[in-house]
Amino acid sequence: MNEVLGSGRLSGGPVLETFEREFAERIGSGHAVAVSSGTAGLHASLIALGVKRGDIVLTTPFSFVATANVALYEGATPLFVDIDPATLEMQPAATADAIDALARGSRAIPTQVPRIGMTRGPLSAIIPVHVFGNAANLDRTIALAGDFRIPVVEDACEALGAKRRGEVVGHSGDASVFAFYPNKQITSGEGGMVVTDRTDVARVVRSLRNQGRGEGATAELHERLGFNYRLDELSAAVGLAQLRRLDEILELRARVADRYTARFAGSPLVSPLPPVADGDTRSWFVYPVRLHESIHRTMLIRRMAAHGITTRAYFWPIHLQPFYRERFGYREGDFPNAEAVGRTMLALPFHTRLADEDVDRVCEVLEAEIEHCRPASRAAVFSRA
Ligand SMILES: *Cc1c(COP(=O)(O)O)cnc(C)c1O
Repeated sequence: MNEVLGSGRLSGGPVLETFEREFAERIGSGHAVAVSSGTAGLHASLIALGVKRGDIVLTTPFSFVATANVALYEGATPLFVDIDPATLEMQPAATADAIDALARGSRAIPTQVPRIGMTRGPLSAIIPVHVFGNAANLDRTIALAGDFRIPVVEDACEALGAKRRGEVVGHSGDASVFAFYPNKQITSGEGGMVVTDRTDVARVVRSLRNQGRGEGATAELHERLGFNYRLDELSAAVGLAQLRRLDEILELRARVADRYTARFAGSPLVSPLPPVADGDTRSWFVYPVRLHESIHRTMLIRRMAAHGITTRAYFWPIHLQPFYRERFGYREGDFPNAEAVGRTMLALPFHTRLADEDVDRVCEVLEAEIEHCRPASRAAVFSRA
């Protein structure tokens, strides 16, 4: 940090380059381009891959809202495929059916489409999400997208270090995006990283983050409409230091998660995430549990807060966010699996320095308070009360 301050280069300097190089090595990808946030990385990737006004972008309703917003930034329509309630990822078979129908220009699209506001352009990108650090099974999606030449951007913002069949997440798609907001596996304050093997994509993302300037061009020449999506040197220094500790951080997070999971084994009211498949490794991002349908979650959150314990409901499905309902006419019932999980999931306190006693106390309070939170009416969970 002091080195950066003393160097006189606060942006676009050598620390950024080192951070990018070591990140690319860690993932095993040809290029890594640091950006100012995960959202910026997703947005720049879509532009670099050619998403245009009116296009369709296929993604999941069960994610952070930024995953779908980046399509809207470019005037494209995000179209959703419901999730598998166990793995929380886009259902592979339903995703394949949707890609097939959209790519062939079929009028019958086998997923709930917007009731209003849908554009009619071609399917021009797919954004699968590795939810909660769980490596999604993208085999069919990648194969089919390849057949139809539709680019795939992996939203890996929650999945740094996750592995599928022993291979680290981040090189199935045309680009993959990681995020370094403080609640992610590693942080740089704010920040993100686009990784890709495609030199053309890396070059355009580099230009987009730097106000559209060309490679090696003078500062006065702007080749395309760009943004200030740069990551500054100070943030890069924090990110680099964190990256070098990644294995230790992942181990500490797994330890905390394992203690929670052991505690809830066999609980009829609180279900941890199911274990991942053999050969896969979850990179713990948050510690979410599914509550029994009979539990009044809002009441539970309030009662936990009274003990000084912060818990969060999540995800609120994207299609039921107020402005998505308004713009696209979505309603409750459109993506039942995403809604059922979104209604019942609760994220517990989770970070590397949570001691065993802290985990135990959270569990004790949760178990005591949960008894006061049932039965409940399941109506109006997603209303704007
Ligand atoms: C955090 C996150 C993002 C956005 O990252 P920011 O750095 O906050 O912009 C995008 N998608 C998912 C799934 C995320 O969890």
